[in-house]
Amino acid sequence: MTTPNSLSCDAIYALRTSIAGDVFVPGEHGYDHARQAWNLFVDQRPVAVVFAESAADVARTVKFARAQGMRIAPQGTGHGSPSLEPLEDAILLKTARMRGVEIDPAARTAYVEAGAQWQDVAVPAGEHGLAALAGTAPDVGVTGYTLGGGIGWLARRHGLAANSVTAAAIVTPDGHRVRADADHEPDLFWAVRGGGGSVGVVTALEMTLYPVRQLYAGALFFPIQRSAQVLHAWREWTGTVPDEVTSLGRILRLPPVPEVPEPLRGRAFALVEAAYLGDAGTGAALIQPLRQLGPELDTFSAIPAAALAQLHMDPVQPVPFQGDGALLADVPAAAIDALVALTGPDADTSLASIEIRHLGGALARPVPGGGAQPEIDANYVMFTGGFAPTPEAGDTVRAQAQAVKDALAAWHAPYDYYNFAETPAGADAVLPPASYRRLEKIKATYDPDQAIISAHPVRPARR
Ligand SMILES: Cc1cc2nc3c(=O)[nH]c(=O)nc-3n(C[C@H](O)[C@H](O)[C@H](O)COP(=O)(O)OP(=O)(O)OC[C@H]3O[C@@H](n4cnc5c(N)ncnc54)[C@H](O)[C@@H]3O)c2cc1C
Repeated sequence: MTTPNSLSCDAIYALRTSIAGDVFVPGEHGYDHARQAWNLFVDQRPVAVVFAESAADVARTVKFARAQGMRIAPQGTGHGSPSLEPLEDAILLKTARMRGVEIDPAARTAYVEAGAQWQDVAVPAGEHGLAALAGTAPDVGVTGYTLGGGIGWLARRHGLAANSVTAAAIVTPDGHRVRADADHEPDLFWAVRGGGGSVGVVTALEMTLYPVRQLYAGALFFPIQRSAQVLHAWREWTGTVPDEVTSLGRILRLPPVPEVPEPLRGRAFALVEAAYLGDAGTGAALIQPLRQLGPELDTFSAIPAAALAQLHMDPVQPVPFQGDGALLADVPAAAIDALVALTGPDADTSLASIEIRHLGGALARPVPGGGAQPEIDANYVMFTGGFAPTPEAGDTVRAQAQAVKDALAAWHAPYDYYNFAETPAGADAVLPPASYRRLEKIKATYDPDQAIISAHPVRPARR
């Protein structure tokens, strides 16, 4: 598809008068702010940025873009922006103003507009003793996260967020509004549950919520010098815990900034973070083998589900960041040794965080009627990254993240985890092969011109 890379004044006027939202174009006040992603390292330069106010705005913008021969890049927060292809021929369609959420406590469901962040769902759901399958950061977008799978603190008990989606409102690449669920548009319904956003623009998701009566969660902080001991112990411990425990082992170098509380500011740690879906007594007994290692700081306590958003200490303000991840079939002791050698106390590294999340449990069991990621056939997932305030710093962090991936290559699963692959890669690199093949066919039906730009592109199957 050959696309133009600017809009005429008449076209901009027509778009502005047809939608309730705002349009920003290069050279005008507000464009630079509007094009910014959460990840400040990313320099997005689309033909125009549209802030949609509603599903109707989304549909009109999509129809407009198609009439102009332009592509469309839907975006909520821009947490997933590092993997996007260049936007020079595209309209960046921001859903950030569409943050409506409705909780139905009796049906245990949430209706979530496309621009909502996880905190918008977790807080009102928690008021009813319910939890969604949120990610670790409160300001990550529900839609991007869920379309890419979604591994959060309840994942080993309840699986991927994508497989708890019960319906999606979608604007198709030709601008039509459809509902996709078990009875309507089955291909689209399958595709958006883990296959990313390549088949249309999602305007809302409906999802199952889970009762969370008791939760015991927290982190054990050890001096970074104890990384090898702590991560080996955590790795062995993961083989003993029930599905109600989701945890990660981590090496964390905290920056010396005021946002980090004083006892932790500017220091480096080996950590175990975990959430147990159950009572505090059982939770304490479960973590006892790690607690008896004698952490410097122990934050475990009984907490409400909405407080899980603070456990991982993700930055909630936009930051310049580079990182990458890998699905790991297994993490034997040799993998921990490799990780500690590259990122532990003796390493000269710009990587601020290196974490390995324990998968398995419900994530490993195929969901009947599930979506493009029906299960995850890997026992762990690694993510590493660091702050990248300059292009040079970004190069350094990227190279070091790649070195960590390379050092773990012997244990890589056949494909990466969609949401943690932050370098440009096709969807074939982040999905099971059979899912990618089906997605190619769906793309050929719904978007043969590749009008929709997604975090990991899907090429339409040749007919
Ligand atoms: C600090 C941080 C913490 C994270 N924690 C977790 C975690 O715990 N678990 C996990 O699984 N992942 C996690 N991630 C990864 C995260 O899930 C992905 O980056 C995800 O893409 C973010 O979604 P978003 O909507 O916020 O980002 P965006 O950049 O806005 O969207 C990412 C992509 O999703 C698609 N998309 C977004 N909105 C729409 C729409 N309305 N219609 C169609 N497609 C759309 C597009 O392809 C877009 O490029 C984390 C990332 C960060 C930076």
